[in-house]
Amino acid sequence: MSAIRLLPDTLISQIAAGEVVERPASVLKELLENAIDAGARSVTIQLAEGGVKLIRVTDDGHGIVGDDLPLALARHATSKIGSLADLEGVMTLGFRGEALASIASVARVTISSREAAAPHGASIAAEGGPPRDVEPSAHAFGTTVEVADLYFNTPARRKFLRSEGTEYAHCLDVVHRVALAHPDVAVSLRHNARVTAHYPRAEPAVRATAILGEEMMANARRVDESIAGLRLHGFAGDPAQSRGNRDAQYFFVNGRFVRDKLLAHATRDGYSDVLHGDRFAAFALFLDIDPTAVDVNVHPAKTEVRFRDGRAVHQFVVRAIAKALALTATDAAPVGIALRPAQRPPLPTQGTLGVAQPVSAYTAMISSLREQPIPAPGPLFPSTETPVARATFAPREAPEPSTDWALRYQPQQRAATGFAMHDGDRTAPASTPSPTALPADAPQPLGFAVAQVHGIYILAQNAAGLVLVDMHAAHERILYERLKRDFDVQKVTAQALLIPVTFNADPLDVAAAEEHREALAALGFEITPLSPTSLAIRGVPALVADGDLPALARSLLADVREFGISQVLAQRQDELLATLACHGAVRANRSLTVTEMNALLREMESTERAGTCNHGRPTWYQMTLRDLDRLFMRGR
Ligand code: ADP
Ligand code: MG
Repeated sequence: MSAIRLLPDTLISQIAAGEVVERPASVLKELLENAIDAGARSVTIQLAEGGVKLIRVTDDGHGIVGDDLPLALARHATSKIGSLADLEGVMTLGFRGEALASIASVARVTISSREAAAPHGASIAAEGGPPRDVEPSAHAFGTTVEVADLYFNTPARRKFLRSEGTEYAHCLDVVHRVALAHPDVAVSLRHNARVTAHYPRAEPAVRATAILGEEMMANARRVDESIAGLRLHGFAGDPAQSRGNRDAQYFFVNGRFVRDKLLAHATRDGYSDVLHGDRFAAFALFLDIDPTAVDVNVHPAKTEVRFRDGRAVHQFVVRAIAKALALTATDAAPVGIALRPAQRPPLPTQGTLGVAQPVSAYTAMISSLREQPIPAPGPLFPSTETPVARATFAPREAPEPSTDWALRYQPQQRAATGFAMHDGDRTAPASTPSPTALPADAPQPLGFAVAQVHGIYILAQNAAGLVLVDMHAAHERILYERLKRDFDVQKVTAQALLIPVTFNADPLDVAAAEEHREALAALGFEITPLSPTSLAIRGVPALVADGDLPALARSLLADVREFGISQVLAQRQDELLATLACHGAVRANRSLTVTEMNALLREMESTERAGTCNHGRPTWYQMTLRDLDRLFMRGR
C-alpha cells in the first residue's frame, strides 16, 4: 500500500494558515491590505475580544462581482497577478491569493460585496470547510469581510493566543502601520463597540502626528530625497526622541511595512553621528522604488524584502537620513577638544570639552597635545610615574594650604552622605579599599569634589591633579555591580512608592505588564495597568528608586515583549540589570552637593570595574598637573 497521500484541500489551507494567520492581528493585516488594494478611500474596522471573537473590515473599494466570490475564498486565486512578469512588477500589497482561503480554513468567514456597476450585492460564507452558495445581499459599494471565532476548529492553536489586551494591542499596531502608510484613506477602529481610533483623511504630516504623537513630530526632520528610481520621504525623529526599542520605527517599502535587516542597518548608520548604538531612533520613512528592483516575495508575512542592488539602497538611505539630520543639527554642535584616551573610539557627544571659538594658536597647541600619550582611566590610583605629591599642588590663589583637602574631607564624612545610594546593608567603613587594593598613601585616589560641571561632570582634585567624572556613567556602573550582587543572592529589596508614578504606555506594554505581573513582582517591580494606554509604577527595586522610572519600566517591558520573561530572567539577566542600572542612575542635570559628589567618588573607589560604564565608555579621566602645565605652556 502506498504511504504517500495527497492532503485534503482544507488541511492544506490550515497548514498554510499556520504561516499567515498567526494571531488576530495577522488576519486584520491581510484584510486591510485587501481593502487598500481595492482602492478604498475609507475603511472601518470592528473588533470584539481582541479580534478573537470578531474582526470585521468594511471598505468602499471596487468590490467583488458575485460570481467571483467563491474564487476569493479559493486557494491561489487572485485578481492581482496573472504571470511571472506581473509578479516581478507587483505594486499591490497582496498577490498570492492565499490569505482569504487560509483564514477561512480556521475561522467563520463571511464576505459581502457590491461592485459599483452591480445592481445589488452578494455574499458568501464558509465555516472551516468548502464555502456555501453565493446569496444576494444588501451591501453598499465596496466589501465587508467578517472573520468570527478564530481557530474555532483548531483548539491547539487557540491555546497560543494571549490575553484580549495583548491581541488587541497587536491589532492596533497593524492599524497604525496601515494608517501611517495611507494618510489618504480614512481609518476608524472600534473595539468591543467603543471607538478606539479615528483617522480622517489628512496630509501625511497630520496623519503621522495623530499616530506617532506631537512630541515625536514636533522636532522631527522632514526627509525627502530622490535619485534615479529611488525616493525616501517621511519623518526622522530627533535623537532626543529615541527609545530603548524599535517600537517607534516605521519603515515602508512601496507602502508595505517591513522589518528588514538591511534597512534597519541603514537607518542606524544614518543616525550614527547623533545617536548612541544602544538607542533606537523614532521615524516613519517611506522608500519608493521601482517594483522590479525589489522582491517582496521572500517572507510569508512579506515583512522582509530583497533588493536587486542592496548596496545602492543602503547607501542612499544612510545619506538621505544623515542629510536630513544634519540640516538643522550641525549649527549647534560644539567644537570639541578630545580629552579622552586616544585608543578609544571617538564619541560624538561625550568626553569632549566644548570651546566656543577656538583661535588657531590654541587649536594648534591642543592638537600637539593630542599627540602626547594621555593616560587611560583604568586603575583607580595614580600610576607610579604620576607625581603624587608636588610642591605646586594647589592653584596659587587657593586660600587653603595644599594638604587641606585631605583633612577637610575625612573618610567618616561618607556616613553622613546625602547621596541616595540605598545602601542600607553596607557595613564596611567608607575608606575600605577596592579589591584591587589601593596604596596606603592614596586613601582617596579619586580625590575630592570641587564642583559639578554642566550637571554632567564632577570636577575633583586628587594628589596627581584633576579628575573629571561622568557622574551618570559612574553611578550606573556602581548600581550595576550592586544589582548583580543582589540578584546573585536573590535578595532584591523592593521599595513601595508612596506616590505611584504613572505614565502613558504603548498598549502592548500595558498588556505585557498585566500578563507578567507575578514575574515582574519577583524582580521587585509592581506595575499595574490604569487604562489600556497607561501604567502605574507602585514598587521598584530599592536601588533604582531614584532613577527615571517610566523609562526604566518601558525598557523592561520592551525586553520582556521581545525576548519573553523567562529569557529575560535567565540568559538576558545581565542585559536586564544593565537596563535597570542605566535608568536607575542619577540623571544629567541633577545638581549634586559636594557631599553627594564625594560619596559618589568613594562608591566608585570601592566598586569593581568602576573605570568604565556598562557601555564600555570611561567613567572618569585623570588630568595630571603635568598635562595642565603642558596645556598652559608652563615651564617651557
Ligand atoms: P490576494 O490579496 O493575494 O490576491 P486574498 O486571498 O487576500 O489574495 O484575496 C483574494 C482575492 O479576493 C483578491 O485577489 C481580490 O480579487 C479579492 N478581494 C479580497 N478582498 C477584497 C476587497 N476588500 N475588495 C475587493 N476585492 C477583494
Ligand atoms: Mg490579500
